[in-house]
Amino acid sequence: MLSNKVAVFDTTLRDGEQAAGTRLGSREKVTIARQLARLNVDIIEAGYPNSSPEDFEAVRQIAEEIEGPIICALSRVVPEDIHACGKALAKARRPRIHTGIGASDIHVMGKFRDDRYGRTLAEKRVTILRLAVEAVKLAKTYVDDVQFYTEDAGRSDLDYLCEMIEAVISAGATVVNIPDTTGYTVPEQYGALIRTVCAKVPNIDRVTVSVHCHDDLGLAVSNSLAGVQNGARQVEGTINGIGERAGNASLEEIVMALRTRRDYFGLDTAIDAHEFRRTSRMVADMLGIPVPPNKAVVGSNAFAHSSGIHVDGVLKDRQTYEIMLPEDVGFEKSHVVLTARTGRAGLRDRLEKLGYHLSKEELDQAYQRFLVVADKKQEVYDDDLIAIVHDELHPVEETYRIEYLHIDSGTSTIPTATVCLRVPGQSGETETRKAASIGDGPVDAVYKAIGTATNNPARLVSYDIRSVTSGTEALGEATVQLQQGDTKVIGRGASTDVIEASARAYIDGLNKLSALRRRQESAQQQMFVDHAQP
Ligand code: MN
Repeated sequence: MLSNKVAVFDTTLRDGEQAAGTRLGSREKVTIARQLARLNVDIIEAGYPNSSPEDFEAVRQIAEEIEGPIICALSRVVPEDIHACGKALAKARRPRIHTGIGASDIHVMGKFRDDRYGRTLAEKRVTILRLAVEAVKLAKTYVDDVQFYTEDAGRSDLDYLCEMIEAVISAGATVVNIPDTTGYTVPEQYGALIRTVCAKVPNIDRVTVSVHCHDDLGLAVSNSLAGVQNGARQVEGTINGIGERAGNASLEEIVMALRTRRDYFGLDTAIDAHEFRRTSRMVADMLGIPVPPNKAVVGSNAFAHSSGIHVDGVLKDRQTYEIMLPEDVGFEKSHVVLTARTGRAGLRDRLEKLGYHLSKEELDQAYQRFLVVADKKQEVYDDDLIAIVHDELHPVEETYRIEYLHIDSGTSTIPTATVCLRVPGQSGETETRKAASIGDGPVDAVYKAIGTATNNPARLVSYDIRSVTSGTEALGEATVQLQQGDTKVIGRGASTDVIEASARAYIDGLNKLSALRRRQESAQQQMFVDHAQP
């Protein structure tokens, strides 16, 4: 008998981050993972450890620090991948390795062209089946909980798919993921695929069947729901539906569909939906991928009624046009408003409720900044605090720091900026450097001046500024995407002065680029040492 609980597998930090084109630092990933634990997801897929030293380190830290959810790491069937997962997950309380291989003929023929896998399709299929079984057995030497993905299952030969699933279950897999990697299937078809697998594979009752859908045709959520209706008891997806190409299935939509239409599905999850909006906001901010206002469940307008008839109806009886309550998914006006009289303990308490655990030094730093903002703004809301924390707590060491900033701008002046920065000097000491520049506008002038002072040629890919709360005294939060070579980073800055916020965002981006370069250099040496061990 299948239970009516559906496990939620979050892959925001793996499939989601992979697609963002922006690398998160491990500190940021731990912060997101902690928020996912508050959301009460069942499994966090923390990354793909063998893909880079940074990803290894992020998985290792999440495994060590995050309690509650199962912590999962991705691998191919390649032994080095599995060893890296085993090592990265060593300290996890509940570790899971997620390994797998292509199951469709297109993948079998396309990805395993080399003759050493066999000459014909039939020969290659035999080899791949063997690699799959060996990978599960190897993963089992590290962890009890092994999930297997049959990549591109949505386009695979059904008999071969079932044969592969039966074999990996016999080898010890505990969860079988049947992904529609390319977002090709439609709901009835994908539902039928899951139903057939559940009916045909003799030992399927020993494992949990998982669905992993992509949104290329806008069907990821519908396909996932069709999957659980037909026997899957784990759904995979991401917050805000971010992910490869058109994205993954959006977890908040699946969860709220199951909950709002429990009468229809008869299924539920353990998710604490009140955390959805906060999680959505955190993921959007950190990865620099904004949520469209009309996005289901978490969009800023998802619960805004505008037509007169609707507004009138909702005022008389909310049920007329509301199928979910905004407060159920975390849209609530902050009842707690902090002011300059709020002490350090009050700030720490509020930040912990928002999911941010700070060290003493970090709290001191955030508190100083809070006082500056509270002085200008009188009332500080939760969203302001989040902006302050994101701005003040640099996940990386500061290579550059703003000491002084002056801008001249107006309708009849050429925008001019003067900056004074702390920068690394010749002898390892920091030194002060000044620069001035004119520009097309004040932000352009500031960025040119910073570029001159730092002598650091990063390309500005995108620039965005928004108001954190309402009112002209609100904090402005600037987000920039900077690129150097193949590396892209997101820089953020917040201030009641939008030009200062913009400058802070640019400096934050430059600091992240420098830190990433340093980390890559030292981590490469570290990995070299690791691999030299047996
Ligand atoms: Mn995927």
